[in-house]
Amino acid sequence: MPVISIVGRTNVGKSSLFNKIVGRRVSIVHDSEGVTRDVVSSSFVWNGRRFDLIDSGGLEFCPDDPISSQVEEQVKFAIDSSDLILFVVDFKSGLIPLDLEISKMLKKIDKPVVVCVNKCDIPGDEASVCDFYSLPFDDIVPISSTHGHGTGDLLDLICSRLNFEENCEDVESIRVSIIGKPNVGKSSLVNRLCGRNRSIISDVSGTTRDALDTLISDESGTCFTLVDTAGIRRKNNLKGDIEKYSTFRAYDSVEFCDVCLVVIDACEWITSQDVKIVGITKNNCKPCIILVNKWDKLESSTENVLEFDSRIKEMFKFIPYAKIIYISAKTGKNCNKILGAIKAVFENSKRRIPTGILNSFLERVMLRTPPPSIKGRQLKIYYVTQSNVSPPTFVFFVNDCKLMHFSYQRHLEKKIREEFDFSGVCIKISLKQRSVPSN
Ligand code: GDP
Ligand code: GDP
Repeated sequence: MPVISIVGRTNVGKSSLFNKIVGRRVSIVHDSEGVTRDVVSSSFVWNGRRFDLIDSGGLEFCPDDPISSQVEEQVKFAIDSSDLILFVVDFKSGLIPLDLEISKMLKKIDKPVVVCVNKCDIPGDEASVCDFYSLPFDDIVPISSTHGHGTGDLLDLICSRLNFEENCEDVESIRVSIIGKPNVGKSSLVNRLCGRNRSIISDVSGTTRDALDTLISDESGTCFTLVDTAGIRRKNNLKGDIEKYSTFRAYDSVEFCDVCLVVIDACEWITSQDVKIVGITKNNCKPCIILVNKWDKLESSTENVLEFDSRIKEMFKFIPYAKIIYISAKTGKNCNKILGAIKAVFENSKRRIPTGILNSFLERVMLRTPPPSIKGRQLKIYYVTQSNVSPPTFVFFVNDCKLMHFSYQRHLEKKIREEFDFSGVCIKISLKQRSVPSN
């Protein structure tokens, strides 16, 4: 799949262009300089051709700032792994010396470069882009990321500049959302799973990041798209907006994922925020794996281990099906179990139990523990069927829904889980009333 990188100084509209092209909010767009710090990527299709688009962090060239030099490294990585570069400049501010610096850097590499003169919002602006012809590139395209003007022409031009096979196959992958409080080690985990330094990890407060999609595969060829949601650390003046946005992102990414990995920091024990985040997975009925990270710091004390164990059972008893793995993203401990666990949980979420097997199971359950009676009327369950997968949904056909006591429903769920492997998976049970048994 061809890879295209969007490069340019901060605030020229790289994130806006990225979001416009991929058709959804992935990158943070913000007025403050330097908000998009990290590399964000997503694939998109144009005229039946699939591309990978990378939004690099803004180039600032501040050698003294450790974050900015990490960003530069990321941008260089993005450029190195690209087939084409979109160099974004700002029509409104015109060319500034930093644009010329960047253009020199791009000129040195032997890759096609398309200059996007962004913020040409008004028809007629295109006529005034001649200033930008002083840049040493042939393809200069006026666009407006906000309004969308020119982006179709831009994509057509990109297609004509790239050689690739038509109709690239879509890669089937398990979409994994990695959520958790800031600083618990989500990016370290992604890096560990990827085996290379993709997202920025830094102890410098004020590092801001957005969601990153990373495609990896295990040795059997199963593909996983890891979505590392914004692990945003506090930066006073930006805090409000971005934190709100990052929570949206967490909700968004849970909604569209196949499996959730909730990372918690063992050193902080279990906080109410961790419980809340795990709760989001349950409310969305998504498979959930809880990764207790930084275990390297706790495991040496047996007392701590025992206390942690009892505390985790207590705090997460509302989600007894969640899988829990104790890991260290730093040392790698147990990280080799994660992809296998994701795969197993994903398969569980797709499991479909044939109706015949379900009903003979139901007969056995009812024989052992008959359904309850309320005021002399007994609940009758005529039959059960699995109406859906992801989440597995079981519909029980009964004589009267009001006779189903929640404890009996819980008992049924428990028995289903004992009989069939739904570990890690949220299952749904619904009731349908039938006055006469259908067969
Ligand atoms: P980045 O730092 O290069 O990723 O830039 P952003 O995408 O965050 O955009 C920086 C600012 O420019 C934001 O306030 C955007 O709303 C604004 N912006 C982006 N594209 C356009 C555009 O086409 N027209 C106008 N008028 N503003 C834009
Ligand atoms: P994120 O905000 O959740 O993405 O967290 P980061 O991956 O940026 O990690 C935050 C800090 O925790 C960094 O200083 C990491 O080096 C550190 N860290 C991450 N995982 C571990 C771990 O398993 N053990 C220890 N001791 N530190 C870790």
